[in-house]
Amino acid sequence: MIDNFKKLVRPNIQKLQPYESARRIGGQHGDVLLNANESPIFTPFELKKKIFNRYPECQPSDLISSYSEYAGVLPEQILATRGADEGIELLIKAFCDPGKDSIIYCPPTYDMYKINAKIAGITIKEVPSIKNTWQLDLFNIQLNLKNVKLLYICHPNNPTGNIISKGDLISLLEMTENRALIILDEAYIEFIPEKSMIFYLKKYSNLVILRTLSKAFALAGIRCGFILAHKEIIHILNKVISPYPISIPVSNIAIQSLSQRFIQIMKNRVSELNDNRIWLINELKQLSCVKKIFNSHTNYILVRFFMFEEIFNTFWKKGIILRKQNSKMNLEQCLRITIGTRAECFRVIQELKTFSAAFSKRGLA
Ligand code: PMP
Repeated sequence: MIDNFKKLVRPNIQKLQPYESARRIGGQHGDVLLNANESPIFTPFELKKKIFNRYPECQPSDLISSYSEYAGVLPEQILATRGADEGIELLIKAFCDPGKDSIIYCPPTYDMYKINAKIAGITIKEVPSIKNTWQLDLFNIQLNLKNVKLLYICHPNNPTGNIISKGDLISLLEMTENRALIILDEAYIEFIPEKSMIFYLKKYSNLVILRTLSKAFALAGIRCGFILAHKEIIHILNKVISPYPISIPVSNIAIQSLSQRFIQIMKNRVSELNDNRIWLINELKQLSCVKKIFNSHTNYILVRFFMFEEIFNTFWKKGIILRKQNSKMNLEQCLRITIGTRAECFRVIQELKTFSAAFSKRGLA
């Protein structure tokens, strides 16, 4: 019986390797969770609404006006989504025809651009970013633009942690004007807000920005993100979004998080995590098991280790959960470490020190 159903599955889904989210890989294992780029610091919220018998507004107007005020863009330029992940998917749904259109993405980067394209049956053109600087390969992007409707660029990039050069982003926006949309994923932009391209929404109608409350706002659990774009693009996306994507509890908490008070708390949290990142990088520099540390402007760092597999496994057994990146293009021996509290960063360093000592003894470092 089950085999009969299997035959019904679309061939691209039969072949699909699903996204390995941190919770899918690790479940609830571990007590130091440094594998999902979540905030380790939280602020409790209280649900202000208690009655849920009615559907919510499709786009809760108070939420849209709160984000509009925070981001400085007009309400008609904003679409609220179930996390930035839903934004990635909606754009493909609205703009790409299977078997005809393509997307470009630049690995190593966030896997969901590729996975959503695969689910939708859209051709994927991979234009790897330049090794080690992780900047865009504009020359090869230009060569590959035929049939491309969407280009997904992660800024700052996950998992490498770098920002993309502003000059390159502007060249890309000009190169694709009137022919494709640049989807700039700013999920981590609050860790380096001065590099946001939000002001360019006015100038380039082909710029689309993805945002989320999951990272700096410490609200990964509520699933709330935003698409910022020209109002015509938002109008089109409104056609394909599900009828009630934002539940009442989600908008209630999201609106609170966008008040002046909570924005200040978010900024304090960002500066604490940025300090922890600097501390962690300085400590890592002194360890012999570390091969290379990539510069980061986010709440995670990418590190190439000697014997990374053993480090990952030992940490796992001790309940410190890191994220393997070695199967991604050009990231052999790399682990990604989310910036935790100072105590968690300290624990990482203490464990690595034991490792470094063992490596040195065995002559492996
Ligand atoms: N973009 C990037 C670059 C991410 O790292 C993530 C989360 N890992 C997302 C988007 C999705 O974020 P959200 O929780 O808002 O769906």
